[in-house]
Formats: sequence, C-alpha cells, structure tokens
Amino acid sequence: MSYDVIVIGAGWSGLTAATAMAEQGLSTLVLEKSRGPGGRSATRREGSARFDHGAQYFSARSAPFARRLQQWQDSGWVEPWKPRLAVLGEADGHSDPRGTNRFVAVPGMNGVCKQLAESLDCRFQHRVEQIRYEQGWRIRVVGHEEEFTSKRLLITAPPAQAAALLGPGHDWFDCLNRVSMQPSIAAMLSLNEPLDPGFDAAFVNQDSPLAWIANNSSKPQRSGNDWVLHATPEWSKQHLEEPFETLAEALLTAFKAVLDFPVPEHAFCIAHRWRYAMGHAADAPGCLTDADTNLAVAGDWLAGSRIEGAWTSGDKAARALLEF
Ligand SMILES: Cc1cc2nc3c(=O)[nH]c(=O)nc-3n(C[C@H](O)[C@H](O)[C@H](O)COP(=O)(O)OP(=O)(O)OC[C@H]3O[C@@H](n4cnc5c(N)ncnc54)[C@H](O)[C@@H]3O)c2cc1C
Repeated sequence: MSYDVIVIGAGWSGLTAATAMAEQGLSTLVLEKSRGPGGRSATRREGSARFDHGAQYFSARSAPFARRLQQWQDSGWVEPWKPRLAVLGEADGHSDPRGTNRFVAVPGMNGVCKQLAESLDCRFQHRVEQIRYEQGWRIRVVGHEEEFTSKRLLITAPPAQAAALLGPGHDWFDCLNRVSMQPSIAAMLSLNEPLDPGFDAAFVNQDSPLAWIANNSSKPQRSGNDWVLHATPEWSKQHLEEPFETLAEALLTAFKAVLDFPVPEHAFCIAHRWRYAMGHAADAPGCLTDADTNLAVAGDWLAGSRIEGAWTSGDKAARALLEF
C-alpha cells in the first residue's frame, strides 16, 4: 500500500508531525524499530517497577508549546512534578533548580507519545533498513519482503542514523554526521524499602560519574521505591562499551557515595545505554527539508534539543511536508 507520508520514528518529533499531517487528511504511516512509542522519552517496565530511564521531565519556554502542554494537562496526559530538588556539590551550574515548572507525562514519560500513537497507524518492531527515491519513496523494513511506498518521507532518527539511511551520496550526509550527540548511561535502581535523603531529585555537581539522580516514584501516578541514575556525558563516553552489569554496579556505588545516607537493600539495578542522548545542530534550523524529493528530517537536535525541541521540530517539519 502507498501512503501520502511515511514517518520513521515514533518519538516526540515523529508523532507530533504524524498527528499534524494525519489531522490534515494525509494517509500517514509511522515505522518504529522499538516495541513501543516514546524513543528517548521511554518508560521501561521491570516486573512491577516502571522507570523513566530517558527524559526526566519537561518545561515549556515557547508560547506554542505552552499551549499544547495545557491541552495535554486538560486531557490528563501530563501532570506537574514538584520534586524537592537539590544540587549536590557546587550550585553554580544550576542557577534555578526551583524556578522551573516541571511536567511529566503520566503514568510514564512515554504517556503522551502513547496517546498520540493510538490515533495513528504505527507499526512497531519495524526497523527501516533502506530508503530510496524513485519518483516517490520506497522503504525497506527488516524482515518484510514488500516495500512501503510514499510520496513524502520524514526521518526522525538521530542524526548519525538518519545519515546512514540517506547514504554517503546524499547532500545532507556530511552535515548530519557532523552533529555530535552525547551518550548517557542510565541505571534503574529498585529498592526494597523507601529512601528519603531529604530530596526527590538532585543534580550531581561534584566529582562523580553521576550527573542526575531522581526518585522516579516521587512523580505523579508512579509507585514503588524506584530511582533513576544518569551518568555524566564524559563518564558515559568513557565507559560506553562496558558490560551492563559493570555499568550498573559502578553507578550504584557512585549513588551510595554521593548520598552519604544509608541506602536500603536493592531488588535490582539495571543499566541502559543511550548512545545518542542529547546534542544539537549549531544553527538550530528547526528541520531540514527538500522540496525536490518531498523529504524532511526532524528531531530535538534541530530545534535546541530536549522534548520541547523535538515537538517544535516535528511541528515545523509537518507544516513543510503539508506544502509539498
Ligand atoms: C538520558 C536522557 C535524559 C534526558 N532528559 C531529558 C529531560 O529531562 N528533559 C527533556 O526535555 N529532554 C530530555 N532528554 C531528551 C529527550 O528525550 C529528547 O529530546 C526527545 O525524546 C527526542 O525526541 P525525538 O523524537 O526527536 O527523537 P527520539 O526520541 O530519538 O525518536 C526517534 C525514534 O526513531 C526510531 N528509529 C531510529 N532509527 C530507526 C529506524 N531505522 N527505523 C525505525 N525507527 C527508527 C527510534 O527508535 C526512536 O523511537 C533526555 C534524553 C536522554 C537519553
């Protein structure tokens, strides 16, 4: 079957764009390699525990995103999160730990993406392995004989992966490969008992592998005694290829060291590797578009990074593609 538009990726940028285009009547297909929506704003289940092991929260700086955020709040997809927030170590790097209004999707950070995906034709476990333009887009998905075809194509994979799909002959190949995305190692720690060190989340600004620690269970509509630990980009880069067990152990040890507070026994501690966690293009153009081939690339890194950037970029890419 042929579509008006195919979107690669079911994160914030892909689903924002797909929703906008489907609402305007375009037949829209979303292809996502993972088992569910959310991308780097994922929620991982481990038994009865649920972790926001990627994006932690978001805030709204621009008026359009603030308006959309209000709609999600009114629909019950998003709630404010008011953590007792600390800075461990030098406070200089975090001037406003309490001045920001923070929001989380409920019941997990993938909540908004999940809601958006429900109204769309989204195919999960569909990894796009090849794309080519022949008077329209022809898309090959791992394990599928038949090609998917469309008039327009939107790629929202992180820049290195988008470059690999477009191939070395494409005009955008070099500029996509030049965007540096920092990795992040995350650990999901489930404790047998509550831990209250006097804060719910903290920026770690001292000599430690850790950059951020948060009591995931302190967010609305979560339960349990579950913490998320994020390593610094530098530490993550240095230890990126180490086995998960080694990474989990190192971050748990670092957690105990920065807390200086008795940590209850843990049920488990599991590490996750985010190879392309965060980064941004130098000029933040919002999205890349090519009217000759009805192609666009979107993603957080094109609009200042983070969830708001992903939404802004997806929104902009949809407007451009609707004109093609
Ligand atoms: C550890 C961590 C912490 C973060 N903390 C915050 C935070 O606190 N606040 C905040 O605002 N932001 C945070 N971010 C950033 C935020 O998660 C991202 O800005 C946002 O989720 C990016 O959305 P996106 O749609 O642009 O990209 P992605 O979420 O990366 O979506 C791209 C999608 O494309 C899919 N894909 C890639 N290649 C293919 C392929 N070949 N075929 C099919 N599908 C493919 C991927 O599986 C993915 O689902 C954090 C990110 C990480 C990793």
